[in-house]
Amino acid sequence: KLYNQVQDLKGSIRVYCRVRPFLPGQSSFSSTIGNMEDDTIGINTASRHGKSLKSFTFNKVFGPSATQEEVFSDMQPLVRSVLDGYNVCIFAYGQTGSGKTFTMSGPRDLTEKSQGVNYRALGDLFLLAEQRKDTFRYDIAVQMIEIYNEQVRDLLVTDGSNKRYPYFMNEIRNSSQKGLSVPDASLVPVSSTFDVIDLMKTGHKNRAVGSTALNDRSSRSHSCLTVHVQGRDLTSGAVLRGCMHLVDLAGRDVIASLAHKNPHVPYRNSKLTQLLQDSLGGQAKTLMFVHISPEADAVGETISTLKFAERVA
Ligand code: ADP
Ligand code: MG
Repeated sequence: KLYNQVQDLKGSIRVYCRVRPFLPGQSSFSSTIGNMEDDTIGINTASRHGKSLKSFTFNKVFGPSATQEEVFSDMQPLVRSVLDGYNVCIFAYGQTGSGKTFTMSGPRDLTEKSQGVNYRALGDLFLLAEQRKDTFRYDIAVQMIEIYNEQVRDLLVTDGSNKRYPYFMNEIRNSSQKGLSVPDASLVPVSSTFDVIDLMKTGHKNRAVGSTALNDRSSRSHSCLTVHVQGRDLTSGAVLRGCMHLVDLAGRDVIASLAHKNPHVPYRNSKLTQLLQDSLGGQAKTLMFVHISPEADAVGETISTLKFAERVA
C-alpha cells in the first residue's frame, strides 16, 4: 500500500531537503553530514561493521547555511502558480526539532529576515496580484487549522469562543469549488502582509491554548495554512480558482503511518489526507520539504527519513 501511495505521488511531487544547523550551545563535533551538493547529500553512519557514507538524491538540497530567502526563492514559481489557478501543496516533513516550523513559519523570535515560507508566500502573492491588477482582480482568503488526534481545530477563531474549550470540527467537507476539501473553518479575507502577520499571531495563540506543553503537542499535530485564491479576468469575466496548502506536519513518520502502519488511521480516511486529497492525487503541484538534524544521535531517524523521502522523489 505504501508503495502504491508512493507511486501515486511520483511525477507530480518534488522533494527538497534541508539540513538544520547546529543550535547555539551544541557541539558541531558530532555532525553526520558528509558531502553536500546541489541535489545530493551524504550521511555518515557508524555501526559495529564500521563507518560508511550513504548518499541521497533529491530535487534540491539546502545546507545548514541556506537562508530563508534562498529557500523561498526556489519555490517562488510554484507559489505563484496559484494565481494561475493551480492547486499547490507544500508540506514540511521530518522528526521533531529538525526545523519544519522554522522553514514554514520561522523562529520564535521572528524578524522580517527570518520569516518562513508562509509569510513570504502570501507577501509574494499580494505583490503579483498588484502587478496584474489591470487585467485581473484577485481575492485571497486564508484558513488556518490544526489536526490533532483526528480532530480538526479552527485556529482563526477570534471571538474567544475556543479559549477554554477548543472548537473541534468533525468533518472536512468537499466544497463545490473544484472538489477541494475545505474544512468548515473561518475563511478570512486578506489583502496585505499586515493582515497575514495579524492572523498568524491569532493562529499561534490559539494553538497554544489548552496546551501546556506546546512542543509535545506540535510533535503530534499537523498545522495547515490554506490559501484560497479567486481571480477574475477583467476583460472576459472568466473566473479561476487556485488553492495552496502549507502544512507543518507532525514530527512522526506520518506518511508511512497513514499509509499502512497505523491500523487506527486508515490512509483514505484520515483527516490529513482528506484535506490534502487533491494535492496528493497527482493533479496538484506538490512539494515535500524534508528536514533533518545534523546530530549523531539523530542519525537513525535521519536515515529513515531520507530513505522514505527518496522513494517519493
Ligand atoms: P520542528 O518544527 O521540526 O520540531 P523547529 O522548527 O522548531 O523544529 O526547530 C527546532 C529549533 O531549531 C528551533 O529553535 C529553531 O528556531 C531552530 N532552527 C531550525 N532550523 C533552523 C535553521 N535553518 N536555522 C537556524 N535555526 C533553526
Ligand atoms: Mg514544529
